[in-house]
Amino acid sequence: MQILVTGGAGFIGSNFVHYLLDEHKDDDIVTLDALTYAGSRDNLDGVLDHPRHEFIEGDIRDRDLVTELVADADAVVNFAAESHVDRSIEGAEPFVSTNVQGTQTLLDAANDEGVERFLQISTDEVYGQVLDGKFSEEDPLNPRNPYAATKAGADLLAQSYETTHDLPVVITRTCNNFGPRQHPEKLIPKFIQNAANGDPLPVYGDGSNVREWIYVEDNCRALDLVLREGDVGEVYNIGSHAEKTNLEVTEAILDAVGASEDLIEFVEDRAGHDQRYALDTSKIEALGWEPTYTFQEALDRTVDYYRE
Ligand code: NAD
Repeated sequence: MQILVTGGAGFIGSNFVHYLLDEHKDDDIVTLDALTYAGSRDNLDGVLDHPRHEFIEGDIRDRDLVTELVADADAVVNFAAESHVDRSIEGAEPFVSTNVQGTQTLLDAANDEGVERFLQISTDEVYGQVLDGKFSEEDPLNPRNPYAATKAGADLLAQSYETTHDLPVVITRTCNNFGPRQHPEKLIPKFIQNAANGDPLPVYGDGSNVREWIYVEDNCRALDLVLREGDVGEVYNIGSHAEKTNLEVTEAILDAVGASEDLIEFVEDRAGHDQRYALDTSKIEALGWEPTYTFQEALDRTVDYYRE
């Protein structure tokens, strides 16, 4: 299969490219990435010259380029996005532009050129917060920050192309990822680096916000499964059930790095900070997937990676 991976020089996308090249010896991969502040060729270290991989620097909003690449692809996996909630609160424009219009450009090209699969990578944040229980794929979308709103918009566009144009779309919504190659603006790599350097760890509010954390390799296995075996038109939640408050994550990092809890610094809360996300994952589990790493195993591996 020839797979076009957009946003493949970012955190999850690059882990997915490495995963595909390792696991599927018959697949050819083209990575398209604009190399924004969040993307880096370094994330594709070791596979830039791989015989079954080609890297193209370019933008998913560039219709001509995208059409040319989609024409040769059997499947498109769209990771490309502005992904940091705090940045979307400071300014939503690039989020609307890439996450919504960029996805629309890709969908149009995929529809015109005809692909066998279009996997849209989405997030648990599109459901909004849930104080009790878990979100299933049938729950309504209720995004509460600009990042989540643009991801919800992209999901709805993708679903509409499946309904109106029969484009073979599948959507995944994953909880918070962590692991190798994540940009240091995100909580876990930032806190590992701060702890290692003896710098303060700024925890929003009282640290009670709950997130579900998945090791990126487990997510890549799930995405690969949905790409090949997910039903067209369906949404699949991907979660680990490893729910942690931000304070618990912070304490676990300090413990893993061997730094003092005196480094914890409570700071003003994020505006509109969702209290809790949690996913019902029975649908992806029915496809035969489950996470393999505990939170602690995954954190130890991640700390080792950033130490190196
Ligand atoms: P990231 O910010 O690390 O990577 C995004 C990549 O997209 C970067 O390499 C960037 O250069 C590229 N990009 C941005 N705008 C582009 C454009 N216009 N054209 C081409 N490339 C562009 O993000 P990530 O954490 O790897 O997330 C990847 C996807 O997974 C996103 O769609 C995100 O919404 C989703 N997601 C992330 C998480 C998480 O915990 N990180 C959880 C659920 C879903």
